[in-house]
Amino acid sequence: MTNKPNILLIYTGGTIGMVKDYKTNALIAFDFSQIVEKIPELQQLNCQIESISFDEAIDSSNMNTAYYLEIVEIIEENYTRFDGFVILTGSDTMSYTSSAISFMLENLQKPIIFTGSQLPIGDLRTDAKENLITSIEIASATRNGKPIISEVCLYFEYKLYRANRTTKISSEQFEAFTSMNFPPLAESGVHLNFNEHLVHQIEGGEKKIIVRKNLVNEIVILKLFPGISKVVVESILNISNLRGVVLETYGSGNAPNSKNFIELLRNAINKGIKIVNVTQCKSGSVMMGHYDTSLLLKEIGVVNGKDITTESAVAKLMYLLNENLSIVEFKHFFEKSLRGELTDKYHF
Ligand code: ASP
Repeated sequence: MTNKPNILLIYTGGTIGMVKDYKTNALIAFDFSQIVEKIPELQQLNCQIESISFDEAIDSSNMNTAYYLEIVEIIEENYTRFDGFVILTGSDTMSYTSSAISFMLENLQKPIIFTGSQLPIGDLRTDAKENLITSIEIASATRNGKPIISEVCLYFEYKLYRANRTTKISSEQFEAFTSMNFPPLAESGVHLNFNEHLVHQIEGGEKKIIVRKNLVNEIVILKLFPGISKVVVESILNISNLRGVVLETYGSGNAPNSKNFIELLRNAINKGIKIVNVTQCKSGSVMMGHYDTSLLLKEIGVVNGKDITTESAVAKLMYLLNENLSIVEFKHFFEKSLRGELTDKYHF
């Protein structure tokens, strides 16, 4: 028996788990059960590492709610045996996936760190080793016997973010992610510095983790653009079984205030479809009622997404739609921070 923290690496796929076949020059997935042998540096970390892989590694473009379930079930099964989890996925949809996992796990008291890379782990110039090694260090970090991080995070290129605040911003730069509305929870340089006043604090004693396994995916993202036609909006809002809409609006939550457009939204809301207002801006918040062009949205019952990202709004909608909430309850819970995903203070 050792007192070293036990870390579970969960490999789902993505560039990070690839090595170059130098004969053919092609990228091939490598067997993750041999990760510690392949990356001897991992042995120098002060923790015990085990790994588990998806049966078939996926490009994260193929990520879906069934795979979300697979990830949370692996965590649930191994929750008591491990002190922290590092989840490797492709970066393309990592913000969606990690946001969803943050809502699916309630009363989380252990670190779950998502990471990946822009270059394969076997590439000479790879960013994978630093991302992986520091993620494991973060997942093992404790203060007074308790984990420093007890939430779902995303680590990439020297920064640790709250996962449900992130967005992928570059397909080329190693700095592939940003979190415009919330500062990093840690930064890695010569030292690994945690911004401990920002991290989620565990309140009270041990709480049993609750795993929410059912997500509703009859939802759509409707991104407005000048000139969007009535027939397009009407067709989208009339999709059969549609349960929710992330309405991507302009600036501080503004949209056309023409009678036609507002009536289409009002009819959808009257049919029980939940519509959430999220800004297309990368930073800042929706402030419904600040301009005339958002006043009517507020009046007809569009929900205020405040400064939530689209990725996180999709995840939160999928989660809350399954909870069978009344209109009032849905609005209450969506507009309130449940996992640190939005800033409560924006009361408009
Ligand atoms: N297309 C890859 C994926 O998201 C890119 C990456 O791994 O970062 O799976």
